[in-house]
Amino acid sequence: MNPKQWWLFRIFALFRKEKRQKHMLNIVLFGPPGAGKGTQSENLITKYGLAHLSTGDIFRANIKGETDLGKLAKSYMDKGELVPDSVTIQMLESEVNKREDAKGFIFDGFPRTSAQAAALDAFLTSRGTSITYMLALEVPEDQLRDRLKHRAETSGRADDANPEVIQNRIDVYNRETAPVAGFYRDQDKYQGINGVGSIEEIAERLFATIDQVA
Ligand code: ADP
Repeated sequence: MNPKQWWLFRIFALFRKEKRQKHMLNIVLFGPPGAGKGTQSENLITKYGLAHLSTGDIFRANIKGETDLGKLAKSYMDKGELVPDSVTIQMLESEVNKREDAKGFIFDGFPRTSAQAAALDAFLTSRGTSITYMLALEVPEDQLRDRLKHRAETSGRADDANPEVIQNRIDVYNRETAPVAGFYRDQDKYQGINGVGSIEEIAERLFATIDQVA
């Protein structure tokens, strides 16, 4: 390739990348602990071919691998507290950077604080893209508690097994995470979804919302 061809190729590649980033479908899947974010993420990945980033799953993989990040995260997760923003934001950004060719992302369990939401916006803007919308699974609190108790029988998750930790997660959600919805409401990106019903029914509601507003 001569230098002129090389430059033309570079410009074309940059143009294509910019176009792809502008048209990405980036979804924040939101909801309290036990709302069904993980389950529904799988349905969305299959249907829309998105990359799935679950901060909870990434922390659990690090705990399993006994990394420094895993050790740090475990000390918070076992109590039902949030892992500090600085650590979580940096980890999330590095995971996004690893998936250069993604058509879009499902952010599952992130952002969980207003600071995380602001950081995600700035980060995506720097990459020439943005959140398309937040899909928020709405489930009454007594049903969340039942689901988590039930999940504890099979999940093997320490934070599901202890009622006090479950209560703390719900309290932390109400105090620190629920306000994040306002951040996306202000941008007209909030879509509430009824999270009560069968897995298939809820998936259909999510698909219908995406197909209607995308
Ligand atoms: P759930 O939605 O059932 O609470 P997750 O798997 O999303 O489960 O998260 C499990 C735990 O991981 C949280 O209670 C928290 O300690 C930690 N965690 C996950 N995502 C974040 C985040 N964005 N910021 C801080 N901590 C997080």
